[in-house]
Amino acid sequence: MTAATGASFGLAGILSGCGGGGEADTATPAAESEAAAPAAQASCTDVSGLTDAEASMRDTLGYVDSSTEDGKSCANCALYTAAAAGESCGGCTLLKGPINPNGYCVSWAMAAS
Ligand code: SF4
Repeated sequence: MTAATGASFGLAGILSGCGGGGEADTATPAAESEAAAPAAQASCTDVSGLTDAEASMRDTLGYVDSSTEDGKSCANCALYTAAAAGESCGGCTLLKGPINPNGYCVSWAMAAS
């Protein structure tokens, strides 16, 4: 009888130690980061780190932060390089400086799928 009582306390201790709250805490941040993923609001127009020639090239090719061309944006351009983890702006193998995935320039070329 003593052994059975001890076993009951042991099981109760294990169950109460689980708590259950830890799993919920680890699941919440992942859901929040997925919700924050869209970069539609990103601004990738800071050319302060570029030379005048590099900044001028962006103007020459008509780079804009938000494409008005149907179905064409930097995100589906062959020259686009994706943003690093945690960053909103990617890059371009043609233009220097930050590139918005929703941007566009006249050198847009369909990326291979
Ligand atoms: Fe965007 Fe133009 Fe570079 Fe293509 S070439 S990624 S459209 S800036």
